[in-house]
Amino acid sequence: MNVQKIIEEIKQLERQIEVLQIQISEIQQSCDHHFIGNEYYETCSKCNKVNVLYY
Ligand SMILES: [Zn+2]
Repeated sequence: MNVQKIIEEIKQLERQIEVLQIQISEIQQSCDHHFIGNEYYETCSKCNKVNVLYY
């Protein structure tokens, strides 16, 4: 496998990741969240959305 092919494959994977991240944010936007966590951050047990509460 040459470098050019590997770079092409990386680009394809990056596009795939982008599509998957869009899918995640769509799911998270329509989720009826159930957050659990501590004073620093909370995570939705249904969609894994994370809210940072303390910076
Ligand atoms: Zn959620």
